[in-house]
Amino acid sequence: MPVQNKTDTFHQLAALTRERILILDGAMGTQIQTLGLSEEDYAGHGSGHACRHHSDHPQKGNNDMLILTQPKAVEEIHFDFAMAGADIVETNTFSATTIAQADYGMEDAVHDLNAEGARIARRAMDRATAIDGKPRFVAGAVGPTNRTASLSPDVNDPGYRAVTFDDLRIAYGQQVNGLIAGGADLILIETIFDTLNAKAAIFACYEAFEKHGAQLPLMISGTITDASGRTLSGQTPTAFWHSVAHARPFSVGLNCALGAAAMRPHLAELAGVADTLICAYPNAGLPNAFGQYDEGPDDTARQVAQFAAEALVNVVGGCCGTTPDHIAAIAEAVAPFAPRRLPSEVAA
Ligand SMILES: [Zn+2]
Repeated sequence: MPVQNKTDTFHQLAALTRERILILDGAMGTQIQTLGLSEEDYAGHGSGHACRHHSDHPQKGNNDMLILTQPKAVEEIHFDFAMAGADIVETNTFSATTIAQADYGMEDAVHDLNAEGARIARRAMDRATAIDGKPRFVAGAVGPTNRTASLSPDVNDPGYRAVTFDDLRIAYGQQVNGLIAGGADLILIETIFDTLNAKAAIFACYEAFEKHGAQLPLMISGTITDASGRTLSGQTPTAFWHSVAHARPFSVGLNCALGAAAMRPHLAELAGVADTLICAYPNAGLPNAFGQYDEGPDDTARQVAQFAAEALVNVVGGCCGTTPDHIAAIAEAVAPFAPRRLPSEVAA
């Protein structure tokens, strides 16, 4: 790969990850839900910021849009996670691609969403660091989009694809360039259910790094969606690692879909093969009949601490249903444990 120039973040993170298990934040969506925002709030017609992007589509549910219409609320959520103990917080940009924003008619807002999303997270981190002096990092969150490049959404036409590799590469490129422009320290490609989508995102990242003249650390996180322990595109954790290892990611791991207990065997498999840091951020258990997550902070923390006790992890946090209280409990529970060592270090 052409870009050799690495940012200072690499050195800072490398030093920290030798010392301890790092903490990632929890779920943005769960915190946003508690605000009870209306269509007016989402669209920015109410008390929030007037947004210069307009669409005829309803915006309620477009959580990424809150970066532009309720920036203070988003900043406070990042700040709460930072003060709960997160070393790394994710930007609120999971769906900030032209592909995902097409549902809301907000394709034109994509650059601003990503650049502002990174700036807001940076502001919150700087406020937290001013209080306690701890370094903190902004991970630009890159979601899977709502389309899949390796599977057909039409059962009657298995050869059909709703999106191509190049569509994804271009859309992810816009997103990642926006995140870098806003000052993201890392890029986190997450909730990967289709490895081909992730490969397009990785390709787009390296194109963006080349343009930027420096390489940011990449975090790559897959999602196991079925009981047989495979991603939606059919890969085991081992196959998933071999499909993304060429990106030389800072970390590889698993998030979402499962609670910590059900994630454990898949994480152990990945930790056994991947010669890079391991990151895990499960949901707060499994959703109830209403799609809500009932697992309390201590319950989640006890299970995540088990990952640490078995020396499986280097970075831990929470996905759906996890609050600042979950993150604080996880940070406390893993603190006594040493970070996992790379297989190559153990062999040396
Ligand atoms: Zn999740």
